[in-house]
Amino acid sequence: MTDYGTSNPGFEADVIMTAAVLGLAVSYIKNLVPIRFDMDPRDKDKEWELFKEVVQRLNSAAVGYLGRNNLLPSGTVEAGFAPLHTKGAVVVGVYHLAGQKTPDSVNEPELSPKGKVLYEKIRNEQLPQYVGRGAYTGFVDNWNTVGDTDPVGPLSTVRFLVPQPDVPHETPMPHPRWLPPTSSELWRLRLRRNTQDLYVPWGMIGGDKAQNSPNTWMSNPTNAPNEADQITGLMKTQGMVFEGEPTLSDIAGYTHGMIQAIYKAYGLGPSATPYEITVGTETTKLASCVPCSLFMISLGYPPTSIHLGRGESWVPLLEPYTPGRSSESVERAVIRDLNNSWQDECAEWLTLGLKVLDQAAVTDDHQASVTAVRQYLDTNSRDKSVASALILDAVSIHDSELSRISRTLNPADSVESIAPTHRW
Ligand SMILES: [Zn+2]
Repeated sequence: MTDYGTSNPGFEADVIMTAAVLGLAVSYIKNLVPIRFDMDPRDKDKEWELFKEVVQRLNSAAVGYLGRNNLLPSGTVEAGFAPLHTKGAVVVGVYHLAGQKTPDSVNEPELSPKGKVLYEKIRNEQLPQYVGRGAYTGFVDNWNTVGDTDPVGPLSTVRFLVPQPDVPHETPMPHPRWLPPTSSELWRLRLRRNTQDLYVPWGMIGGDKAQNSPNTWMSNPTNAPNEADQITGLMKTQGMVFEGEPTLSDIAGYTHGMIQAIYKAYGLGPSATPYEITVGTETTKLASCVPCSLFMISLGYPPTSIHLGRGESWVPLLEPYTPGRSSESVERAVIRDLNNSWQDECAEWLTLGLKVLDQAAVTDDHQASVTAVRQYLDTNSRDKSVASALILDAVSIHDSELSRISRTLNPADSVESIAPTHRW
């Protein structure tokens, strides 16, 4: 997020994520590849019209940009449905460089013999893993016949503390992350109800619900006195691992299972495939969030489906992490290399997306934020990690990408109807 005194962090988050999605979309369709965003088929009746209309705004902005710059668009931005799924269905990062193909079925993945055994244990929740809201478990199938032949998992979402700039750190320190100043309005909802000064640290999922009394629809295993702490308590009892306790000067971030799986898969070589398996009963969309998708695509593992929901406080790994094991130093090189590639692509996409926004139908109240974000990116352009840091900052303000895009872009002039496409 920019640190300009006049900036509006909420609008900037809208602009940053809209630009990232547009940059990604334009880079696809100018190479003749359509890109599709999917919604949960079970929300079809209540959301499809809105979803389709917002995707049309993306398409109009992207196609318009290419047309005005004499780049004939041959692909389009499409709206569709994520696959209907059953328990144990998977999202796959398809490593096209190694000749991997999009699987025929995401409900019955074709796995190695050892992979199948581990997959069944994860699907049947026989191993410790997070099974609460939005639970997907990362898993790597491994077809190697020599060397390390073991599949990897379960890799659940883990909550980490984002390292502080003054803490000595082994990986190159990226651009400093944005923490709202204490005077920011954003802290108001994070003040725990019935307290004078007890705030929920930045980044924590559910943190904006500290003013609410506990939600009676959810269980409250820790007898928390407010909804924010109730959500944290519930996540913990549902198996999420918390590495470190955030203080008010910390930022909490969450590394999704697919992301952990990609580092492991990359380390194992081209015979390994990263998966995310749906677990528990509270996970609905069989698709990757936008921040996961950006990471996956930047490394050549595009997901089988992308949704425009939330990727709240998404972070990549900054240190090797293996549940229940000490970190392995060989993984540092993998993390450094993959994070560098991701940072480079974030810079490409964000820069391109801001150019698209320059010529697109941006809403009046978001114009100034487009200028501010571009100025900040230009001013800090020598820092290669600034674009990725802006994306991480943006998703620390929790909202769906669909809402952000709909606030940033005006409805398209000519709304052609987009027919839903089904891949499965
Ligand atoms: Zn994700």
